[in-house]
Amino acid sequence: MGGPEVDRLISLLAKLPGMGPRSARRAALKMLQQPELRMLPLASALTEAARAVKPCAICGNLDSQDPCSICADAQRDRSLICVVESVGDLWALERAGVYHGLYHVLGGTLSALSGIGPEDLNVGPLLSRVGEGPVAEVILALGATVDGATTAHWLADRLRPLGVSVTRVGQGVPMGGALDVLDDGTLAAALRGRRPC
Ligand SMILES: [Zn+2]
Repeated sequence: MGGPEVDRLISLLAKLPGMGPRSARRAALKMLQQPELRMLPLASALTEAARAVKPCAICGNLDSQDPCSICADAQRDRSLICVVESVGDLWALERAGVYHGLYHVLGGTLSALSGIGPEDLNVGPLLSRVGEGPVAEVILALGATVDGATTAHWLADRLRPLGVSVTRVGQGVPMGGALDVLDDGTLAAALRGRRPC
């Protein structure tokens, strides 16, 4: 349609979440019509982000500094760790501005069906953090799914012997990158409504 460069651009864009072939063609056309204004700044932002952004060695958040800006922030409450499935969930909680403790990104949930065991998740570093740090409470903000519940129980059994209180956020909250759809009030209520597990 416009040469191999255009085909490649469209096929790469179409692989992004929320994009299909149609929206990829529209985005490619929009950029190609104003390459200086839309395309080159995007290209350099992509290159810079790919080079600079890495997972935080402590919590697993993605940031251009390591430890990430949350772990490095002296104002955060270090007695609280909120365990989330994905960086998307962490970012959604941060956007809502309702939580001021630290985080830990698991990278998924235990799943017998998909063959995901504890060794596939960021579990060991969590137990070390809780065992070594000034942590009083671990909040499990995992999905309200069978796998989310299984993971929460499994984690709670290993966290409680370390002398911390273990809580779960209110039920009915979709997690696993799905927190974006919730308004701040719902997120705040889910955090406030946490209970021992
Ligand atoms: Zn961090």
